[in-house]
Amino acid sequence: EAKRLGRDRYALFDGYMEALAWRRLEIECGLRKAIEQRELRVHFQPVVELRTGALREVEALVRWPHPERGMLQPDEFLPVAEESGLILLIDRLVLEEACRQLKDWQLEYPAKTNLVVSVNLSTKQLREPTMLETVTSILGQTGLRPEHLRIEISERAVTWDLATALDQLHTLRNLGIRLALDDFGSGHAAIAALRRLPIDTLKIDRTLVGALGKSERDTTLVQAVISLAKILGLTVTAEGIESPEQARQLRTFGCDFGQGTYFGGPMPAEEFAQYLSTDFSDLLQIR
Ligand code: C2E
Ligand code: MG
Ligand code: MG
Ligand code: MG
Repeated sequence: EAKRLGRDRYALFDGYMEALAWRRLEIECGLRKAIEQRELRVHFQPVVELRTGALREVEALVRWPHPERGMLQPDEFLPVAEESGLILLIDRLVLEEACRQLKDWQLEYPAKTNLVVSVNLSTKQLREPTMLETVTSILGQTGLRPEHLRIEISERAVTWDLATALDQLHTLRNLGIRLALDDFGSGHAAIAALRRLPIDTLKIDRTLVGALGKSERDTTLVQAVISLAKILGLTVTAEGIESPEQARQLRTFGCDFGQGTYFGGPMPAEEFAQYLSTDFSDLLQIR
């Protein structure tokens, strides 16, 4: 009896694994097709200067409008993209679209010529020997100046050996491209990443921002991270700001920039255009 039960359990497990494998394959095939047919979309999220309420940056975030399952978020397909290597194509596509879009906005809104676009690069892309060439050729094609591009590297990506990546990152930095350490405080590589990467900006992970005000210890921790960044001469951006209290507190702590649904979530370029001719000072009760 016990033996039979065990066998049934294995059968159940096998069935589950098989379903997972099928689902993974289905995502991979669909994604490959979506990339070929240029169906992936890039959404843009405002990054606001907390002192003034001015729009300073936009972060480019990939989306997949799936024919049956609606608009898919990155966490629903990036893991498969990473495993299959499709992420290399996606990173390239997003980088191209982001640079092209920013260039268009700069031409259309002369008051916004200093706007910076921020693009996330995967670990795979960072370790590609051709990464540097990919980035510089896209800047060349779009005519975007290097100081108007920021590349974000997730703290989670820094646990591996980054030897090739480090060389390339230093070159990017010397070209004038900005580099941010993303998701700071989400993993376990925070200090190592700070020591090794030639970054100019720290992005505080939204889990830390979400804990603001939950306890004195949580609040002090966020304040300390901001101070740490400042001492190192880095600019600080807080992610996941959802309330006026969070915005106000971060501003008091000297956090330079803020990003989150309180200011605006990621949106298509057409929708984003409204922020190019206005600012966020009302939301920060400045003026
Ligand atoms: P990330 O770079 O840390 O991007 C910020 C994420 O936080 C975005 O999720 C954004 O939609 C979300 N977010 C923004 N404001 C708020 C808020 O107020 N509250 C909450 N709860 N969330 C907020 P998204 O777009 O789902 O992207 C998730 C992650 O996927 C990104 O995290 C980034 O690591 C990765 N990713 C997105 N686009 C790309 C891409 O083009 N290439 C690569 N390699 N990775 C990407
Ligand atoms: Mg999301
Ligand atoms: Mg990011
Ligand atoms: Mg982040």
